[in-house]
Amino acid sequence: MRAALLETHGLEAFYGDFQALFGIDVAIAPGETIAIIGANGAGKSTFLRAVCGVLAAEPGRIRHRGSAIGGMPPDRIVARGIAMVPEGRRLFSSLSVEENLRIGADVGRQGPWSLERLYRLFPVLAERRRAAPTSLSGGQQQMAAIGRALMTNPELLLCDEVSLGLAPVVIRDLYAALPAIRAEGTAIVVVEQDINQALQVADRVYCFMEGRVTLSGTPKELSREQIRAAYFGM
Ligand code: ATP
Repeated sequence: MRAALLETHGLEAFYGDFQALFGIDVAIAPGETIAIIGANGAGKSTFLRAVCGVLAAEPGRIRHRGSAIGGMPPDRIVARGIAMVPEGRRLFSSLSVEENLRIGADVGRQGPWSLERLYRLFPVLAERRRAAPTSLSGGQQQMAAIGRALMTNPELLLCDEVSLGLAPVVIRDLYAALPAIRAEGTAIVVVEQDINQALQVADRVYCFMEGRVTLSGTPKELSREQIRAAYFGM
């Protein structure tokens, strides 16, 4: 693999006394698409939360372009080019769709993404730009959440369960945006419960179980049996 954009070494994470991650080693190259799969409670969201700074981590356990960033405040991590699309979208309901998108631009970096560019990627957001996020469909809200993250001009985009609760046709529309995002050289981590979806889009896959990486490799390298064993512990 090329020099890593982001690496974790022995990453641990805690909620109070409860340990959720035990020594996670993950490496992401520039421009790579990684899928993290695993059952409920495996620690996938916790991993993303640690990387984006909302959960405490020892500095040297997370490195971005060689610099220790574990435990750095989220705003500094966004400014370095790491953006999160959180589970449940977390749009600001008192603001319009466009105001939500502008927040991304305010906290992020200079780069290829602008409102115009984003509205070309997701035309329905242009139509609904003045609407309240709560009036959007689930798929449109997810587009707005992805859009807000893209407006920070990330070089690493972390997406937590973007397909959750959405109809297959809507999920297809969301994933159709991936090539345009990748074309900017953006590395992407998708957390997915849908293994088939994950294997389709990812250059490499990590399987988490009970806070540990149980399997990793390219979709070609991994057999269905290996994945099933790593996912369910069978
Ligand atoms: P899911 O698909 O359910 O989101 P996940 O793989 O993302 O699963 P996490 O949400 O990272 O799993 O949870 C990992 C472990 O940490 C679980 O045992 C979960 O109960 C626990 N956990 C998650 N969030 C908290 C929290 N805020 N406080 C305490 N424990 C938590």
